[in-house]
Amino acid sequence: MAKYEVVIVGGGPAGFTAGLYASRAGLKSLLVERGMFGGQVVNAALVENYPGFPEGIPGAELGSLMHQQAIKYGLEVVTAEVTGITPGQPYGVSTTEGSFEAVSIIIAAGSEYRKLGAIGEERLSGRGVSYCATCDGFLFRDREVAVVGGGDTAITDALELSRHAKKVYVIHRRDQLRAGQVLQQQAFAQPKLEFTWDTVVEEVIGEELVKGLRLRNVKTHQLSTLEVAGVFVAVGLTPNSQYFSNIVKRDDAGYIITDETMATSALGVFAAGDIRKNSARQIAAAVGDGATAAMSAFKYLQERS
Ligand code: NAP
Repeated sequence: MAKYEVVIVGGGPAGFTAGLYASRAGLKSLLVERGMFGGQVVNAALVENYPGFPEGIPGAELGSLMHQQAIKYGLEVVTAEVTGITPGQPYGVSTTEGSFEAVSIIIAAGSEYRKLGAIGEERLSGRGVSYCATCDGFLFRDREVAVVGGGDTAITDALELSRHAKKVYVIHRRDQLRAGQVLQQQAFAQPKLEFTWDTVVEEVIGEELVKGLRLRNVKTHQLSTLEVAGVFVAVGLTPNSQYFSNIVKRDDAGYIITDETMATSALGVFAAGDIRKNSARQIAAAVGDGATAAMSAFKYLQERS
């Protein structure tokens, strides 16, 4: 079984930065990523808040550049899903492409879109139910669509969709947005946006494609139907930490608890990026976490030898 000084789980900004630092420090390092290089970044049409790119940079390009830069210094990368970690020294890392031994591990597996749990949501996913406005918004040119959620993502998505769609309904379970003030101001000034407050989605209606939503007002319990061709679900994220629950301490929402060195409750195991409790969930923050985690892993390995 191949043995590594560091195995990094996840190929987003946190993972590739950890890989860059670990390989440049001369550590035998492997990064395991199950999907596209860059993680959630690849869904962003244009990243405008990552320093060094004053005109912005497409997310997919940024992810690809991070990958290229890390492998240049010797980071090995495998496309596979990590399915478990067995305790011991070294740790065992099981993946869909075989098992590896790791003296230290950096968990940077990120998070994924939270589902509504509404009737029809899963069945009509990809048939009008979407979790990525940047990816699918153009499909709804001159149609009426809904966005569910009241956070930064929901409002960013609603504004993005207003460039394509005829009308965008924002459906939020409370009567106040969670999104930042600047986004709120932009949203309230956009005439194509209509807000439906105190409302949740009970059902996504449609046979082959989305035809509408069955809504419930949480205050009056009144039911209503809204005809839309698409629904964009933007109700937050859940951390991809289920495979690590036997190894590291997590909070109630499943985020991995770390200290400021990115150390978890398990010796030699570090966490970085969106998967960690109190992460700022920004690319720049994930990059910082990744660098810190790799430097901590290096120190841990030095102290052991
Ligand atoms: P978020 O801040 O957690 O907001 C989730 C929204 O969905 C909240 O409005 C929440 O309602 C609602 N919600 C949660 N579960 C729901 C359910 N089951 N049914 C209906 N509504 C539900 O998530 P996010 O907007 O994806 O943002 C995640 C992080 O990324 C944040 O830190 C955010 O600042 C950051 N972000 C930043 C930017 C930017 O800077 N431009 C853009 C996107 C994201 P309540 O308000 O009632 O809880």
